[in-house]
Amino acid sequence: MPSTGRFAPTPSGPLHFGSLVAALASYCQSKNQQGRWILRIEDVDTPRVVAGATEQILRDLEAFGFTWDGPVLYQSDQFERYRFYLEKLLDQGDCYACECSRRSLREQGVRSGPLGQIYPGNCRDKNLPSPGHSIRLNTASAGTTGFIDQVYGPFELDLSDAVGDFVLRRADNIFAYHLAVVVDDELQGIDEVVRGADLLENTCLHLLLQQKLGFASPRYMHIPLVNNAQGVKLSKQTGARPIDHGQAARQLLAALKHLGQLPDKDLQQMEPAEILDWAVRNWQPAAIPARWPASAESLDASR
Ligand code: GLU
Repeated sequence: MPSTGRFAPTPSGPLHFGSLVAALASYCQSKNQQGRWILRIEDVDTPRVVAGATEQILRDLEAFGFTWDGPVLYQSDQFERYRFYLEKLLDQGDCYACECSRRSLREQGVRSGPLGQIYPGNCRDKNLPSPGHSIRLNTASAGTTGFIDQVYGPFELDLSDAVGDFVLRRADNIFAYHLAVVVDDELQGIDEVVRGADLLENTCLHLLLQQKLGFASPRYMHIPLVNNAQGVKLSKQTGARPIDHGQAARQLLAALKHLGQLPDKDLQQMEPAEILDWAVRNWQPAAIPARWPASAESLDASR
């Protein structure tokens, strides 16, 4: 069976150099194994979607020579499936409704971990109704969850201690990224997830959700983040510049170098699609450097 990978941008702005690196790595990893590469627009958090960003992302990918297999999947069209699997978790007794706000937790002085506030489980036994409340996954008995990353090696996290019960649906009815990504990866048959190293910790949450829902876990490859001159991860929040269609060849070569690949100089004169073709044929995942990201807490502080 050929593998299936995906690129899953959030349309909160145009693609920047960091997102180009993620697109390129996931594309090469799938296509080098004669696999499929799917495009998924992660617009589950509808209030964060920026008008026109999705169309811009599609245009950018095309200009950089990417072609994807099958139709684009939009998370905003998948709410029924997220609801179904959330109900399943509720029926299994894995989730509960919670009335605590971030602010009330801050006032109680709850600890923070790599993914923010560590929810101490105040509402676990309150039996609150789901509507109007957030829904959290109970991690009391989760223990340590780990995986072997294809770039970073063994990685594990004690979820009950370092993350706490995390939100799967917010009180305003928005499904969390964690639930959406796990459900979509399963239903789209994704077996090879390639994404930025800022999501290493998140992957442990996804593994726990996959276990609870009876899904197989894909292989994971996290790739080193691109930092700006101040050493902070390039992101829309830190004002990263959009990728430039006029500089496609130069930016693709720079992205390959960031991934430890050794592109020929002559490629600079080629069309983007030809550079991608070279990149797929010469893809060396073992050459990707495992540069550790700054902790999520300092990333948070920079937002
Ligand atoms: N939507 C996420 C982002 O744009 C990527 C999530 C993933 O690849 O799982 O950062």
